Amino acid sequence: MKEIITVTGTIASEELGFCQCHEHIAMSKGKSFEINPALCIDDMSKSYEELKRYQSHGGKSLIDAQPCGCNRMASELYQLSIQSGVHIIASTGFHKLLFYPSNHWIHTSSVSDLEELFVKELTEGMFVDGDDASPLRQSNIKAGIIKTAYDTEKLSPRYQKLFLAAARASIRTNRIIMIHIEQNTDPRPLQDYLLNLGVAPKDLIFCHMDRACKSLEIHKEILKGGSYLEFDTIGRFKYHSDQHEISLFCTLIEDGYQEQLLYSLDTTRARLKAYESAAVGLDYILTTFNQLLRAAGISERIIRLLSVENPARVLTQ
Ligand SMILES: [Zn+2]
Repeated sequence: MKEIITVTGTIASEELGFCQCHEHIAMSKGKSFEINPALCIDDMSKSYEELKRYQSHGGKSLIDAQPCGCNRMASELYQLSIQSGVHIIASTGFHKLLFYPSNHWIHTSSVSDLEELFVKELTEGMFVDGDDASPLRQSNIKAGIIKTAYDTEKLSPRYQKLFLAAARASIRTNRIIMIHIEQNTDPRPLQDYLLNLGVAPKDLIFCHMDRACKSLEIHKEILKGGSYLEFDTIGRFKYHSDQHEISLFCTLIEDGYQEQLLYSLDTTRARLKAYESAAVGLDYILTTFNQLLRAAGISERIIRLLSVENPARVLTQ
């Protein structure tokens, strides 16, 4: 049977429901916090509060996009899912290398070591206590996707090594690769690189394209290549308005790409109501943004594609 891997076990495609495909609901205090204090979500009572509010407005599932060895909280994601009833899909893979201490194992691991690590996390269970050079302990809580990051270094040798390991792990396990795209970075060479390695285009999600990549021609080329785009600059007014966001959706939907679009909020501590009462909160798409899409003429059918059917299709293998 084709299934989705969540932190509490596998679920059938139809069980996924409304799913935001790039969130952060738990993140321990570490190197990420040193770089940006908003990159720490370590009060689980507040995470639980956000999940329950999300659920009360119709949220059923989400992807937590914090990858391996980078302040990910695998055991806490499991507990949060059990307590709240929200399905959580966790990530193996790697983040931008500046988010790891200089003595971290990720800098010195070989391609095959990284490949084995990613495969084990997807098929056996995620490792915990792995945020620095200390030994890793394996849990039986599985990751469901491979998160990666395309930095401004692009395909430098050290990132090529990481992407090669991710590609091999994806091919071996049939799990998708989700890619952070850094601001002002053209991801087309990365799509070519991964497809040439044998990754299926439908197994790639390019994230943050709505703020990282101004040219809609580049968006369309990635879509023509058969991959998914995930937009998450929703309610992030320091980048652009929701009206601008909606205009991106409208243009790509008019061009017929509605089955390759996903959306989310890419939450940080500063964007969760449980920490900042004026923040948008994890339920913002359900309470506010979907209404704006409807007001702009986007049909219920399309909203269901963005929030339910496209996530279920991309995650089911
Ligand atoms: Zn993120």
